[in-house]
Amino acid sequence: MSVLEIHDLHATVETPEGTKEILKGVDLTIRSGETHAIMGPNGSGKSTLAYSIAGHPKYEITSGTVTLDGEDLLEMSVDERARAGLFLAMQYPVEVPGVTVSNFLRTAKTAVDGAAPALRTWVKDVRGAMDNLKMDQVFAERNVNEGFSGGEKKRHEILQMELLKPNIAILDETDSGLDVDALRIVSDGVNRAKESTDVGVMLITHYTRILNYIKPDFVHVFVNGQIAEQGGPELADRLEAEGYERYLAGAK
Ligand code: ADP
Ligand code: MG
Ligand code: MG
Repeated sequence: MSVLEIHDLHATVETPEGTKEILKGVDLTIRSGETHAIMGPNGSGKSTLAYSIAGHPKYEITSGTVTLDGEDLLEMSVDERARAGLFLAMQYPVEVPGVTVSNFLRTAKTAVDGAAPALRTWVKDVRGAMDNLKMDQVFAERNVNEGFSGGEKKRHEILQMELLKPNIAILDETDSGLDVDALRIVSDGVNRAKESTDVGVMLITHYTRILNYIKPDFVHVFVNGQIAEQGGPELADRLEAEGYERYLAGAK
């Protein structure tokens, strides 16, 4: 049982126009087995929230707390956060030149577990996970994200999640740019992880489409650096019908 607790989180970023506050007091608690959809318009700060929790150096936490199982996440290095069981699938996954998927996965697994995985089972696990995600095995020998299509990048993120088995996973627009077949494959991967490991999921998305495949327990509307409203799955249906306009009018 894991719990990620975010209290009154404020974060800033340096822009050419000066320091800009992006997160303006976020409160959110995610427990094992729960799926929280974070939905909001572009530019509302959803990725900033993901990066702030994961420890991206560009974002400065100016106040508030983030704990994982009672431990202060904000005091931890990015590596320590991963070892503590946190995983982030980035909206825009980065290339890692000269590092193959196979090496990358093994290095990440070793870092997270604190010991290298037993080779026999590891090779089998990777093959199985790639098959599940309908990824060709030749993918393992390609450099991470180099020349990957949008859909391939997203599958690679979910492949990591399946193999690293985090306690809490933040998925930042893992649905964006996927056609319906890829969306189903990626969603199935997330659902498998939910069933087999009881992972707690923060599912950041702009669109309600993915929520047809991954059922959220809670839906949070994220506007202007804050959660503007929260509810159950029915809230997503209302957003589908009405969009974000009513919130944006209030935020101005
Ligand atoms: P979302 O993911 O909801 O679309 P983001 O968190 O990406 O929103 O961005 C929120 C706001 O913060 C935007 O106005 C964006 O331009 C700004 N921002 C985010 N990251 C940076 C950065 N590294 N440098 C400058 N501005 C940033
Ligand atoms: Mg965006
Ligand atoms: Mg974003």
